Amino acid sequence: VSEAPAGRAVLDRYSMIVSQVRDNLTTLDQLVGDGDFGDNLLGGVRRAVKLNESGTDGMAALAKAFLNDVGGTSGPLFGLLFQHLATVSWPDDQAPDAPAVAEAARSSLAAIHRAGGAEVGDCTLVDALAPAIDALAAATDSPFTAAAEAAIQGALNTASLTPRRGRASYVGERAIGVPDPGAFGVALLFTAIADIYE
Ligand code: ADP
Ligand code: MG
Ligand code: MG
Repeated sequence: VSEAPAGRAVLDRYSMIVSQVRDNLTTLDQLVGDGDFGDNLLGGVRRAVKLNESGTDGMAALAKAFLNDVGGTSGPLFGLLFQHLATVSWPDDQAPDAPAVAEAARSSLAAIHRAGGAEVGDCTLVDALAPAIDALAAATDSPFTAAAEAAIQGALNTASLTPRRGRASYVGERAIGVPDPGAFGVALLFTAIADIYE
């Protein structure tokens, strides 16, 4: 039996979910941006699957793919998220340490803030990431499920916010009612993690 690179389970699960929702993410980005987010996310994930197949660990493959090959604003920002998460090990057969994941995700949030300036409430992926981190750090049992639920709720809540960063900020108040696609991209990563480990 050949040795599979680690972190394949989460990557494969995320890849499957992103394939299923690509068109919905595209639709959201058409309403408030330029309509490429679904393709940016799926393109990066597919590239990561290829890197993983040739030996790179799953989370590191995501980091590499998004930092090197994905355009748009989301490429480098998702790249930072994956890069920090890749400092934790993601075994396929046992859950990673939740506090360590929370800490890595918190350092990604700081890096994303330095890169793009978004705060909580600006209607970006930060509005899914920040509550996921808080839930992960606070939860005692099923921390990854708690993080996924908090991230999805955070993404849904962006529908009532006026975008203040990225392309959607050009649409301003007219974006109210449309949730942020990038926030769902983050929430679905936490969903994939919860699906695999809990
Ligand atoms: P682009 O607008 O360059 O086409 P994408 O469509 O790939 O970028 O990604 C859009 C997503 O990027 C948004 O839904 C939002 O979540 C995220 N985003 C944009 N600007 C920022 C920012 N400054 N900070 C955090 N996230 C951001
Ligand atoms: Mg876009
Ligand atoms: Mg674009």
